[in-house]
Amino acid sequence: MKSRYDYLIVGAGLFGAVFAAEARKAGKRCLVIDKRGTTGGNIRCEEIEGINVHKYGAHIFHTSNRQVWDYVNAIVEFNRYTNQPVARYADKLYNLPFNMNTFNALWGVTTPQEAKDMIERQRREAGITEPRNLEEQAISLVGTDIYEKLIKGYTEKQWGRKCTELPAFIIKRLPVRFTFDNNYFNDRFQGIPIGGYNKLTDGLLDGIEVRCNADYFADREHFDQLADRMVFTGKIDEYYGYRFGKLQYRTVEFETETLDCDNYQGNAVVNYTEATVPYTRIIEHKHFEFGTQPRTVISREYSKEWTDGSEPFYPVNDQRNNDLYEQYRTLAAQQPDVIFGGRLAEYKYYDMDKVIEQALAAARKEGL
Ligand code: UDP
Repeated sequence: MKSRYDYLIVGAGLFGAVFAAEARKAGKRCLVIDKRGTTGGNIRCEEIEGINVHKYGAHIFHTSNRQVWDYVNAIVEFNRYTNQPVARYADKLYNLPFNMNTFNALWGVTTPQEAKDMIERQRREAGITEPRNLEEQAISLVGTDIYEKLIKGYTEKQWGRKCTELPAFIIKRLPVRFTFDNNYFNDRFQGIPIGGYNKLTDGLLDGIEVRCNADYFADREHFDQLADRMVFTGKIDEYYGYRFGKLQYRTVEFETETLDCDNYQGNAVVNYTEATVPYTRIIEHKHFEFGTQPRTVISREYSKEWTDGSEPFYPVNDQRNNDLYEQYRTLAAQQPDVIFGGRLAEYKYYDMDKVIEQALAAARKEGL
């Protein structure tokens, strides 16, 4: 029997939507399904009080890849938002990422050499030569003061694990600079879609058949026979019935509130780096788009261990999980008719631009 579609795409998030857009351009018939009632996966925005609320956590688009930047800007124009989060510890504010402003506020140093000397002294005192985990990596990059005040509490809340048990690469996501530059990212291009991320998703999925509230696992046999090939963007361990065991993820719970003031914290992102504050950060959504609405919407983020029924956000890429993922990946490699892509199917801490790169690469590999 001839299939109705060339591709069944499971998951209407960024990977699925980009792949679908490429397949459509190549004249392929696609069906995109998503168990949620909405498209866009975790970049979905919800409008409250005229503000685009990042419903599944703050998403700031940044890339150094000109092709990816042009690709998204061809769909929606991006604004000039530059992420400059502030860290709050013991009611004092510090600039992020770690830069001369942070070093000055913390130690009173005014020159790059003084800051470097301070870090070098703290690193020597801690006796770290070859960092083996996140704690050692952090101390070796920025010294013990910054580690204790701005990293340890935040990281242990975010991951629910001791910094000594976490991989070093997580902290390497953050730049350390000896200049007065509060831009959180080093990438050439950065911004937020004007009018919100739904415009990006809607543009990608324009002209493509999408079924929301359609759970692949609820009727696998039915969905499997609809198409010749499949793109799967859900959890890879779930795809294989958890046969080797469950991969671990972190989830985030949001406490979203509308406030009767026009500006609550003066910045889109304020991180609470103390262990005693239960949330990791507060997002004030209007500032992503320089909003002038009379009221404001904030979200407190609480990081938790993922359990069935909650939304998986971050893969926990420690040794045990990576080894487990390798077992699933070996199975996936033997299944050429299914493309596994995105944060959940590749069990990777991807940023949005990397997801787009991967989806475009997958499309090229398909000859699209
Ligand atoms: N981090 C930290 N203090 C901060 C912000 C970040 O220690 O104030 C560390 C923390 O370990 C976190 C990592 O840096 O997991 C990466 O942070 P990023 O902002 O990239 O996380 P995301 O935006 O993906 O949630």
